[in-house]
Parts: sequence; C-alpha cells; structure tokens
Amino acid sequence: MRVVVLGAGFGGLEITTRLSDELGDDIDVTLVDQADGFIFGFSKLDVMFGKREPHAVHHPYVDIVKPGVRFVQSTVTSIDPQAKHVVTDAGELEADVLVVALGADLHPEATPGLLEAGHEFYTVPGAFACRDVLAAFEGGRVVVAVTSVPFKCPPAPSETALLAHDLLSARGLRDRSEIALVMPLPMPIPPSPAASKALLQAFEERGIEWHPNTVVRELDPATKVARLADGGEMPFDLFLGVPVHRVPEVVQASGMSVDGWVPVDPRTLETSYPDVYAVGDVASVGTPKAGVFAEGQGSVVADAIIARARGSAAGQYDGRGICYLEFGNDQVAKVDVMFEPGQAPHGDFLAPSEAFMADKREFGADRIRRWFGRTWL
Ligand SMILES: Cc1cc2nc3c(=O)[nH]c(=O)nc-3n(C[C@H](O)[C@H](O)[C@H](O)COP(=O)(O)OP(=O)(O)OC[C@H]3O[C@@H](n4cnc5c(N)ncnc54)[C@H](O)[C@@H]3O)c2cc1C
Repeated sequence: MRVVVLGAGFGGLEITTRLSDELGDDIDVTLVDQADGFIFGFSKLDVMFGKREPHAVHHPYVDIVKPGVRFVQSTVTSIDPQAKHVVTDAGELEADVLVVALGADLHPEATPGLLEAGHEFYTVPGAFACRDVLAAFEGGRVVVAVTSVPFKCPPAPSETALLAHDLLSARGLRDRSEIALVMPLPMPIPPSPAASKALLQAFEERGIEWHPNTVVRELDPATKVARLADGGEMPFDLFLGVPVHRVPEVVQASGMSVDGWVPVDPRTLETSYPDVYAVGDVASVGTPKAGVFAEGQGSVVADAIIARARGSAAGQYDGRGICYLEFGNDQVAKVDVMFEPGQAPHGDFLAPSEAFMADKREFGADRIRRWFGRTWL
C-alpha cells in the first residue's frame, strides 16, 4: 500500500512512526515536508525567553531512518484529492492513501502595521527574532495579543505574558513596565474553568492586564497604538502578536477546504474524498489547533491504515489531549481536556509544579526518541 503523508509536523510524524513500527517494510510511506527539520511549538517560547539555544531545538529530518519510510524534502505545489495525486517541486506522487497534515500557514502581513511596528512570535523566525528584541527592550508597555481566530495553542499567549513578566523581573525592568494580554476568548482556557481561574489569579498577582473577548485588528506605526476589534485602543512600546492563521495555499487550491479549513469526519479524520485524510491544524475537527490533538488524530489515521493492511477493525478518535501550561518560574501545570463530538468540551486541571516541568521535558524527549530515534535532553 502506498501511503503519502504531506507535512512532517506533530500529525505527520506520528502517523509515519506508527506505520513503520507496526508494518515495517510491508508498507510504502512517503513523508513530504518543505522544511529541513521539526521544531516543537513550545520550543519557540523556550528560545524566545532565552531558555534554549536555537540549534538545540531543531530536529533534522535526515535523522528519520525507519523501515518502510522515505522522507522527501520538497514543497507540495498541487494536490488532487480525487485522484490522490500530488505534485511537489521534487516530482510527482501517487497514493493509495493520502494524508494531508500541512498545518496552518501564518500571515503576519494580514494585520496592518504588525510587521512595521510590532513582532509576531508564532513562526520560527519570528519567535527566534523576539529573543533579541526582548533582550534589548528597556522596559515600557508590553502588549501580547491575538489578531484573529482560530489560532494554535490557545494557552501560548497566556504563557507568553507570564514568561514576559519573569524576564522583565529578572532584568530589573518590571517596575517600569506594564503587560497587557488581549485574547478573543472569554477566559484563558474555556474547557477548563479551574485552569482559567488559576491563570486569572496568576495574572492578577503579577499585575498583568487581562482583556478578553477581542482581538487586535491593526497597529499604527506612527503613534504606536493597537486598534482592537471592539473599538478600543491600546498604546504599546513592545507588541508581541499572534498572526492570522490560514489553511496553506496549496490546500485551498485543491478545493478540499470549506470555510477556511478541511472538513473531516471527527471520529475517523477521513475527508469527503475516499482514502484521503486530514489531521491537525489543517483540519476542522472540533478540537483546538494544538500538537497533542494533531498527534492523537495522526494515531487514529495510522490505526485505520494498519487495520486495512491487516484486515482488522480500526479505533475512533476520542478528542482527548493533555496540555502543559507554563506559569513561569519553572512551574508547569497540566490540563487534561476532552473534545468529544456532540458534547461540551471539559477538562481536569492539575496545579503548577516543578514535577510537571520535568514531565513536559519527558513529553518532548519521548517524541524525539520515537519519531527521530535519538536522545534529546
Ligand atoms: C508558540 C507556540 C507554542 C505552542 N505550544 C504547544 C504546546 O505546548 N503543546 C501543543 O500541543 N501544541 C503547541 N503548539 C501548537 C503546535 O505547534 C501545532 O498545533 C502543531 O504543530 C500542529 O501540528 P500539525 O501536524 O497539524 O502541523 P505542523 O506541526 O505545523 O506541521 C505542518 C508541516 O507541514 C509543512 N508544510 C506546510 N506547507 C507545506 C507545503 N506546501 N509543502 C511541504 N510542506 C509543507 C510545514 O513545514 C510543517 O512542517 C504551539 C504553537 C506555538 C506557535
């Protein structure tokens, strides 16, 4: 069976690993990505806040040496989901099963003034550049803001505000700085009222302003004022923004997306095209756009392909994900959330501790061991 997996992020790496582990050379998997390596979303914050060096968080795809798997570094330029035919700048691919795991593209240029007057911290270059920006910052008003919905990793802006507090405190700049957080959500983590309460308390204790239910629409470079969707205005000295997210252009052109993202059966992740699946940020599954969900969805698609190869029954996606939440000062909390189709999302919250910081490190190390076959400390 020829399986073509487009995108080697959380979703694509999990599918590929599971297929190789279970079927080895009995399967023919081609994994395509335009990048030369993988970087965890949370590693962007680690680099931005000076906790890790850029080279230490980059996991080269050349390390993927697995039975049955071929990695091709190239850009996907066209997808025909009907024919399961893919064109890349390194050649064409035919699939029996096609998996689209291309994530969400980020568009800082879609928010007027963001590139001229502010900084975005969601792309790899953007987050890495913010490290120097933060190191050179002399204090003042910091605005951390989301510019549109949906956006990946809903906890990340809250984590950024808390980590900015730590960094400014450590640099002796907190007394002459203000931090404001602008979020489109009514509370920081809507499925977990307990996690939201703990975050709101942490903001209050640290003097971080919380502005819910709105986004920043534009920045005025001349006056250094951010304009909000609710009509409000907010002055800033340092603006750290979450840029607009869109489905990758090649997916849009394929006709697979509806209302911005690729619709799938939330139990099987199959699209409306037979034997074509979409997982992770590119799909509209009903879960947040986060790596843990992309991974869980990838695992269910791998199960389906393995079951097909063996003639057995496949499992279904349950919408579960465990998220780690940075509170700063080496304290990490854990939120165990469920997004079951047809039911209100709900989650359990485990309070911040240093033990969960170690847990989070092991979460990353475990993926690198399984996906890349190497140790990551
Ligand atoms: C600051 C930050 C912190 C985060 N923290 C967390 C966290 O703590 N926990 C968590 O679970 N999630 C976190 N996330 C979210 C997480 O990174 C994403 O949700 C996750 O990576 C989505 O996985 P994916 O497989 O759908 O897509 P991705 O991991 O984005 O992978 C998509 C891949 O497709 C490739 N690609 C795209 N277009 C093309 C093309 N045309 N041709 C070839 N290749 C292409 C890309 O290069 C990329 O490698 C965070 C994100 C950010 C920005």
